[in-house]
Amino acid sequence: MSLNHIRPWRNIYRRESRRIMVGNVPVGGDAPISVQTMTNTATTDIPGTIAQVQAAAEAGADIVRISVPDQDSSRALKEIVRESPVPIVADIHFHYKRGIEAAEAGAACLRINPGNIGDEARVREVIKAARDHNCSIRIGVNAGSLEKHLLEKYGEPTPDAMVESGLEHIKILQDNDFHEFKISCKASDVFMAAAAYQQLAEATDAPIHLGITEAGGLTSGTIKSAIGLGQLLWMGIGDTIRVSLSADPVEEVKVGYEILKSLGLRHRGVNIISCPSCARQGFDVIKTVEALEKRLEHIKTPMSLSIIGCVVNGPGEALMTDVGFTGGGAGNGMVYLAGKASHKMSNDKMVDHIVEEVEKKAAEIEAQQEAAEAAE
Ligand code: SF4
Repeated sequence: MSLNHIRPWRNIYRRESRRIMVGNVPVGGDAPISVQTMTNTATTDIPGTIAQVQAAAEAGADIVRISVPDQDSSRALKEIVRESPVPIVADIHFHYKRGIEAAEAGAACLRINPGNIGDEARVREVIKAARDHNCSIRIGVNAGSLEKHLLEKYGEPTPDAMVESGLEHIKILQDNDFHEFKISCKASDVFMAAAAYQQLAEATDAPIHLGITEAGGLTSGTIKSAIGLGQLLWMGIGDTIRVSLSADPVEEVKVGYEILKSLGLRHRGVNIISCPSCARQGFDVIKTVEALEKRLEHIKTPMSLSIIGCVVNGPGEALMTDVGFTGGGAGNGMVYLAGKASHKMSNDKMVDHIVEEVEKKAAEIEAQQEAAEAAE
């Protein structure tokens, strides 16, 4: 929930959903919107996959999904789960045995469509394995793999067809008295995904996993995801998100967080506000921001930093940030702390100095939080 009583135009009222658990991560209800990604190593490459999971977790991923296409992958999954700092979702398609093996291997959630794994007995076996191993399920409807009878009924993938598919899978789980599930209905077409998700949000109280599938490369996929996921999140729809990019999973996590940060739905690390720069800039804004983004990657405490080229916008932006720097004349700029002009600093020492100020501020915020928690 993002409620701001002073600035009500920023409020987002989240759809009320049931809460389920994916391992130790709550999804739905009033739980923070979690960020997911997926590994792209061969699952049988155990060290490579563990390294990717750890890198994603370090970047902030709350949950990581791993494909389990064969029995060797199920075996590998067990070791990967043991080493993973975050809950693992096993991605299963069609083969019910992989679902059972993944639950036994310690997966926190199975991404499986119960209507696609065969007869009722097989579905029951998978659900039993999930229940026995505290494993939740994600129904993952995808416009590109809709059931034949729905394609015949609707003629082509449509939002109605996707929602109907989702509800059919939901019914199978509910008929088996299984309620620890969430659902997604992804499409690579932003219009179709947005329409389907809106209908789905009305039709069920299950937590919703948002994603625009096959969104594209880093730049185009980021934009497509920001438009698709952004509007749905803004409407209050979505309990967990995955940005799908043809890029490193760490990039997916970063983009996911940036979307949530932009909407004030979740904060992590330093939110840098910077101007595009122009002839008025008192220092090289672009190079400075690039350097600071790298140097401040280790900060996880939510805070804000403004890096502005000149006094046109610098003092105004600094007013609303924890730390600020505004370019001035003669190779110097002004450092702002908590919105107030504090001291001058030369441009050549500025990056090191800002890193120090941000680290100091982060430590201060953390100490305040610890004191508040201790007082509770
Ligand atoms: S803040 Fe100053 S340097 Fe930055 S874009 Fe605006 S006028 Fe140019």
